[in-house]
Amino acid sequence: MDIKNHRLKNSGFQFKESPNHSGKMKDGQPDSIVIHYTAGGSAESAVRTLSNPARKASAHLVIGRDGSVTQLVPFDTVAWHAGRSSYEGRSGFNNFSIGIEIDNAGKLTKTEEGHTSWFGKDYPAKDVIRATHRNEHQPSYWHKYTEQQINLVFDVCSVLIDTYAITLIVGHEEIAPSRKTDPGPAFPLDKLRERLLQTERAEDGSADGSADEETMQGNVGVVTASKLNIRSEPWLQAKTAAPPIPRGTMLKILDETDDWYQVDVITRGWVSKKFVST
Ligand SMILES: [Zn+2]
Repeated sequence: MDIKNHRLKNSGFQFKESPNHSGKMKDGQPDSIVIHYTAGGSAESAVRTLSNPARKASAHLVIGRDGSVTQLVPFDTVAWHAGRSSYEGRSGFNNFSIGIEIDNAGKLTKTEEGHTSWFGKDYPAKDVIRATHRNEHQPSYWHKYTEQQINLVFDVCSVLIDTYAITLIVGHEEIAPSRKTDPGPAFPLDKLRERLLQTERAEDGSADGSADEETMQGNVGVVTASKLNIRSEPWLQAKTAAPPIPRGTMLKILDETDDWYQVDVITRGWVSKKFVST
């Protein structure tokens, strides 16, 4: 699986452009991934809805229960999946995030016959889990994701992280908690973040784990500017070495001058000390 021209390439993956988008993202974007469920009955119906101009909604990818993948919008283009949204001081997630929709019915209601979705379809007990949503206090019933879907989302996010400066993976339920419950507790969102974002960081240093020890000794910083340029040399006129680093990114500090830290993040370079807290 790889990405060419902002399109995910693999045998069997489809690209069907949706008209529901608003042009290219800014330089250095996307930097985030938003995970969703479709709350629908099939991937095909989700693709139809997200390509219908009257619905004014879209996403970059739709992932079917059998592991099918349909891309609707190129990754460098603003899709309409997040709506009103904010998280850690940033809002309007459509502008800088990739939206992944996973075919799943969402929250289910227990009835005498079984477990029913909001659109009236029944699901057998083997496809249902009872769990408490991160934004709720009581457990409820949720449609399970398939193993193929979960594995595929992990693989797709991994390729996206390798291609773009992705530093954040969030659920729609975290950036719009008053309106949204997707992807819900049936999706292993925390595991996805742990495995893909923290592993990436640990692998920045060396393969034998000594990077972790160094990190523990305190020579790390966190970006405090909304976007921080990373330069090839420690002065303002030096060329940038990579797209800007977003707020909250952890930096491993390798060296310093009076005003600059040399850091290891996406690439090695120099950042202004003014915008890094240590
Ligand atoms: Zn959503």
